[in-house]
Amino acid sequence: MVIAIDGPAASGKGTLAKRLAAHYGLPHLDTGLLYRAVALAMLDAGRALDDEAAAAHAAASLIADRLADPRLRERAMGEAASRISAVPAVRAALLAWQQRFAGNAVGAVLDGRDIGTVVCPDAQVKLFITASALERARRRHRELILRGEETTLAVILADIEARDARDASRATAPLKAAADAVVLDTTELDADEAFEAAKQVIDRRRPH
Ligand code: C5P
Repeated sequence: MVIAIDGPAASGKGTLAKRLAAHYGLPHLDTGLLYRAVALAMLDAGRALDDEAAAAHAAASLIADRLADPRLRERAMGEAASRISAVPAVRAALLAWQQRFAGNAVGAVLDGRDIGTVVCPDAQVKLFITASALERARRRHRELILRGEETTLAVILADIEARDARDASRATAPLKAAADAVVLDTTELDADEAFEAAKQVIDRRRPH
């Protein structure tokens, strides 16, 4: 079974995807990490983020063990990832990687922005996880403070709104719910409630 989970920044899709993967015994891929790793490789190599040829090269030569680098989780890397993710050649290189992951025998849970629309259009289950921008900013702010990053709620909210706008307006594989996705608004739900709601959708849809 392939479970595709999409949604905007800090919607809680990553936490949910991890829990669903553990519950159904499926491998999980946080596809945002791929884009973050490409951005990090560019920055480490001293490349400008708008150097499209260098971005395409970094995406094509991405190595799996780069995905464990703790720097990938930093706020600045989300922003940098959002910029390079608009480059079509970067998306093309990462598409093959993601489809290989999803194509293994047992299936998989993938979370990102274009999983239900582009990466796994035939996924058995598609969820689109969202929440108000303010609630998402509050969650991300809490998370970053706990990790010791110094930042304010206003900065995070501005970040999230800018990223939403960029991710939703790019020409290639923009952030949007697939026509057959179930939309789950978690503004009023905690992580346990979101997990229960997602499980209900999956158990209704998966083959028995
Ligand atoms: O989900 P995360 O915040 O780690 O994603 C970082 C950035 O990577 C997003 O803002 C988005 O621009 C890009 N991304 C994407 N497609 C995906 C996953 C992430 O374009 N499937």
